[in-house]
Amino acid sequence: MSNLFHHHMPVNIFFGTGIVEEKLGLFLKESQNVLVICDPFLDESGKAKSITTGIDGCTLHFFSEIEPNPSCDTVDRAVALARELQADCVIGLGGGSALDVSKITACLAGTTGSIYDYYAGGTQQLPRRTTRLICIPTTAGTGSEVTNVGVFTDRKTGRKAPMVNDEFWADTALLDPRLTYTLPPAVTASTGMDAFCHAIEAYWNRESQPVSDWLAMGAMKLILENIKTAWASPENEGARGNMLLASLLAGIAFSQTRTTGIHALSFPLTAEFGVSHGAACAVTLPAFIRLNAGEGGEKTESLARFLGDCSVEDLADRVERLMESMDMATRLNQFGITSADIEHIAEVGLSAAIIHLTPAKMDQETVCRLLGTIL
Ligand code: NAD
Repeated sequence: MSNLFHHHMPVNIFFGTGIVEEKLGLFLKESQNVLVICDPFLDESGKAKSITTGIDGCTLHFFSEIEPNPSCDTVDRAVALARELQADCVIGLGGGSALDVSKITACLAGTTGSIYDYYAGGTQQLPRRTTRLICIPTTAGTGSEVTNVGVFTDRKTGRKAPMVNDEFWADTALLDPRLTYTLPPAVTASTGMDAFCHAIEAYWNRESQPVSDWLAMGAMKLILENIKTAWASPENEGARGNMLLASLLAGIAFSQTRTTGIHALSFPLTAEFGVSHGAACAVTLPAFIRLNAGEGGEKTESLARFLGDCSVEDLADRVERLMESMDMATRLNQFGITSADIEHIAEVGLSAAIIHLTPAKMDQETVCRLLGTIL
């Protein structure tokens, strides 16, 4: 049957202003030792403590040594603390970096060993997770709260790569748009365009399916309509709410399909050239839209029309202008990357399994040509 598809979303999702204060206490009723893995900004600003005050019946501990693109060593430190505390619940509170660390920490809390036993060459299988996991995003970008993905950087090899495991599905996701009001404009722009990449990569993915297509289309529409307002007016309730909703929809969409070439090429740009995750994805986005116009054919054309553009080329131009208007880089040389780096970036990107989910054929020559157009 050619129209057969399967959609799996085990995360219990709650969305709304004030939802964390309203629901978190209820979800912690059965827990005694809770480890909150939180973004340093939320710790330093007092936000992490303020949203958890008033929760009684359990002890809350905080771990906030989270860096962007978290390393395996950071994971091992968080896991050591979880074991010492005998944590029975882990809360991830922050952007994708904090959420990803919370997912693997919850998995490894009840066992022994290091992340290196399971990832980056490690051969062991993650055990069944016995520690509860609640994810609370504070960026509108990664959708990590609704995916079974964690992305970690192995500083020994300098490689950043995703780890996909069904133990990473959170039990509960709580999304409150107010938690994103403090995002600086540059982070609003880069994380918002990351969400756009998730949506378009789910849409044109070789594994795409009708449910993820519609979620992705809705996410892209919301992002094009709201990102500039959220960037310019950080406390605009409507724009922030729509961006967080879009990030959620895009997250659910790509949790079914995975991502494609844009994300594959972002890994070396981030790990080796220090580009933030969202910016590393967005910089190749217009070029991939143009490339997939040929290969994705009619499907990409109908997406362009759905989004209000006359052609795929118009959509690519609009996305590029939107990025420029938010001071985002649209050229690799803005990150200090030169033509001498292109072969290597292509080689590393091509080693990621997801690259072959791109509709266009991905080989060294095609990827180098694509990168050459945005030097
Ligand atoms: P991030 O978590 O690294 O945070 C970016 C910056 O924003 C940090 O400096 C952080 O301190 C700050 N920040 C976060 N929330 C804030 C707030 N409310 N107010 C002010 N500052 C705030 O960025 P991200 O883009 O959310 O996550 C990127 C990471 O997630 C990367 O490692 C990426 O590979 C990974 N990722 C994971 C998935 C997944 O499904 N697991 C999907 C996409 C990306």
